[in-house]
Amino acid sequence: GATIGVLGSGQLGRMFTLAARRLGYHVHVFSPSKNTPAGQLADLEIQAPYDDFEAIESFARHVDVVTIEFENVNVEAIEVIQRFVPVRPGCRVLRTTQRRDNEKAFLAGIGVPVAPYASIRNLAELQSTSPELFPGILKTAGWGYDGKGQVRLSSIADAQLGWRSLGVQAAVLEKLIDFALEFSVIVARGANGEMAHYDPILNRHENHILSVSVSPSGLTLKIVKEAVEIAHSIAEQLDVVGVLCVEFFLTKDARVIVNELAPRPHNSGHLTIEAHATCQFEQQVRAVCGLPLGSTAQLRPAAMANLLGDLWMDGEPRWEVMHLMKNVKVHLYGKSEWREGRKMGHLTAQAESATAAEELVSIARQSLVSRRNESCPSPGLVDA
Ligand code: ATP
Ligand code: MG
Ligand code: MG
Repeated sequence: GATIGVLGSGQLGRMFTLAARRLGYHVHVFSPSKNTPAGQLADLEIQAPYDDFEAIESFARHVDVVTIEFENVNVEAIEVIQRFVPVRPGCRVLRTTQRRDNEKAFLAGIGVPVAPYASIRNLAELQSTSPELFPGILKTAGWGYDGKGQVRLSSIADAQLGWRSLGVQAAVLEKLIDFALEFSVIVARGANGEMAHYDPILNRHENHILSVSVSPSGLTLKIVKEAVEIAHSIAEQLDVVGVLCVEFFLTKDARVIVNELAPRPHNSGHLTIEAHATCQFEQQVRAVCGLPLGSTAQLRPAAMANLLGDLWMDGEPRWEVMHLMKNVKVHLYGKSEWREGRKMGHLTAQAESATAAEELVSIARQSLVSRRNESCPSPGLVDA
């Protein structure tokens, strides 16, 4: 069988690896870390920095196609790999999406609505930007995720402190959008241009980190149509081969604004594993390997809740409670250490309606909180 190479080895790579191996592919994972969420399940885990071009070349020589699990991979590494096998998505997609300034310019350039913004390279530029952009959010141009590398500026008077606290060479200042809600559209695109999208997924954030995702979203048909058209148009014009997630804001006056792109499966799409005919990870396998895309039909209303490291603060979460809950599935990523705010796993609940699924998943997550003083049955094997 063919071998797929994956750059990056976190939970997205892990769920991709599960899907790829189920379909009969071999998987080689490349990343700077060892014993990673994806590496644990791959046929081969290669540990080297992304700029170790010798290791990159050897990796490329042993696989048939390469994909990514996160967009912040060295573009030079991709260029080396491309001399041997296709990389999907390719350099242009990565160059655009690994920098917020490039991404915004691309989106604005193709006429996609984005929040008013300015590219900022130094304090003077920040201090002379239009007062219209305040209150705003200053975001680093590269490397931000889970709201890291962002600072809120209520007025131009915060400029100096804000710029210093970021401590970067390049950033984007975005006007703060007083949105009604956030949602995402995930679309897969094959090498032949074939596309398949999932219906919008409603996203609720806490502390700038995704907390809960729900589908169906409850958005009107008009908004759904508009967002799906935007997502298709972006995938096509970026020439994505693979999976693309488009994050949206819906403003209180029903305008649709694109927040950012992720050229890969997305946290909000984890519920597709149980709730859809084909999940976003299988879709990535299909797109990358040139197979026809699968059906994106939703089977049942569902909601996903992230399990952040915070849950481990008082000891191991009470998994035994989870096993009592029918219709709730547990996914753990195999991370050896927890940190506050770190994504350790997720839960997916299915129910008769989106509201019921969201309620169920929230109750399930809440019930995992362990309290050391409370006596609870120990997890593990149970005698029949
Ligand atoms: P991730 O890649 O994990 O989604 P990120 O660090 O790239 O996160 P963003 O998606 O840009 O960050 O922002 C994180 C969250 O912060 C958004 O989902 C939204 O809730 C809030 N946010 C970001 N930009 C704005 C804005 N211009 N106006 C209002 N809220 C915003
Ligand atoms: Mg992001
Ligand atoms: Mg985001």
